[in-house]
Amino acid sequence: CGIVGYIGKASAPSVLINGLRRLEYRGYDSAGLAILENGSIVVSKAPGKVAALNDKAHADWPAERFVKSSTGIAHTRWATHGPPTEVNAHPHLDESGDIALVHNGIIENYRSLRTRLEGKGQTFYSETDTEVLAHLIGDRYKGDLFQAVCDALSQVEGTFGIAVISAKEPGKIITARRGSPIVIGVGEGETIVASDASAIIAHTRQVIYLEDNDIAIVTADNIDIRDLNQVPVTREVNELGFDA
Ligand code: GLU
Repeated sequence: CGIVGYIGKASAPSVLINGLRRLEYRGYDSAGLAILENGSIVVSKAPGKVAALNDKAHADWPAERFVKSSTGIAHTRWATHGPPTEVNAHPHLDESGDIALVHNGIIENYRSLRTRLEGKGQTFYSETDTEVLAHLIGDRYKGDLFQAVCDALSQVEGTFGIAVISAKEPGKIITARRGSPIVIGVGEGETIVASDASAIIAHTRQVIYLEDNDIAIVTADNIDIRDLNQVPVTREVNELGFDA
């Protein structure tokens, strides 16, 4: 339902949770976030309100985690496959635990993909359609996250807006869309990815809207947008109005 990703100098957990609050009006049943810390992914998820996620993260995580991490992704889920439990909340991880993904939309062919990956010995924990996409990206990963996401997306049927991070490739977020909106806020030394401009407006009014089948490599100071064949595409920067 709602996606926020952040990469920059600020505290990623705080920016992400504030961004999720801005998306609450769209409705959701659970929430979660994943951040990069010292070469690994750390996740916190909770059923219910963003306030419950905020309480849980502050209870479970050391205070310095809120200061040190500057890259992360977050989600408010509106369940389509599997009930609104903590396990089913996003982000979902790949088999290795090094890749985290948030997803809006529906992966229509998730059952056949899941059966194939389970046949290769992969273990699934949730009842969601989304977890298969995280596992598929991990399965395709050969040292280049962007390439792995392109490969995985070429195998899925359905709709998606996604944001992906990898512990092996800190300093970037991969985001893509097909039938579910993604907007990228272009800040000063920071970039915000979201499903809705209302999560971005506190940071910048300069935004780029992805089009279907766009996939972007986002860093704190660069946005590289390609099509699924990895051919670069140009998308203009828009100025958000004051009613955004
Ligand atoms: N289909 C996914 C799920 O049920 C994503 C739902 C959403 O867009 O929030 O987990």
